[in-house]
Amino acid sequence: MTRISFLNGFTCNARVPSSWHTGTLCLLGETDQGLVLVDTGLGQEDYVHRPGILRLFQVITIVPLDPQEALVRQVVRLGHQPEDVRHIVLTHMHFDHCGGLADLPHAIVHVHRREYEAFVGRPRHWTDLAYVRRHVAHRPQLVLYDDAGESWLDWPAIRLPFEPEMWLVPLFGHTHGHCGVAIKTEAGWLFHAGDAAPIGLGDYAPRWLVRLVLGPHAQRLCDFAAAHPDVRVTTGHMWLGFF
Ligand SMILES: [Zn+2]
Repeated sequence: MTRISFLNGFTCNARVPSSWHTGTLCLLGETDQGLVLVDTGLGQEDYVHRPGILRLFQVITIVPLDPQEALVRQVVRLGHQPEDVRHIVLTHMHFDHCGGLADLPHAIVHVHRREYEAFVGRPRHWTDLAYVRRHVAHRPQLVLYDDAGESWLDWPAIRLPFEPEMWLVPLFGHTHGHCGVAIKTEAGWLFHAGDAAPIGLGDYAPRWLVRLVLGPHAQRLCDFAAAHPDVRVTTGHMWLGFF
């Protein structure tokens, strides 16, 4: 990708400790196939008709809920038309990562088949409560991916149909079909680990809790980042200072 914008699609601040301010990282990059967005944050409709899970977040955390954070507005502020976003790649389909799909209805949506099937299926796990079905009520064009026996660096991965190279990296656990996304940029590889790793790869929660909420890959992702200083590793939620 010639250039990547790091956008915050959903600010969520902790009550305790009150200094914990985070944003949901969405990546907007230029490819030969047009603009590609990785994750969407909330959608404009979510600010008007808040899903139940968002209301719950508002009880547990402090959510400013600023409509200017809607990704479609940020895309326009960057000088693009919403239709310029031709493709959306999803790490997973929790409300804070795919809520904005309906604001970009022309985009083709790329997601792991396991994730989409979990999203439309019966809830099987407590984290499935963060799926909001209406986020695909506009019936976007979907491309669903299965494991293909390829790999990107140390990780089994699925090549996405973009140039420069992008890979979907299965990191199941946080959700049934959660994936990271590896992107070849002018500055080297960017590996967006999504919600499989703690905020900014930090170490501030007991391992059992990290495993319960984020799945089994967090430690390996942190070890990978330490062993590969040439690869920039980001996470689904980043400290606000990052943006
Ligand atoms: Zn999530």
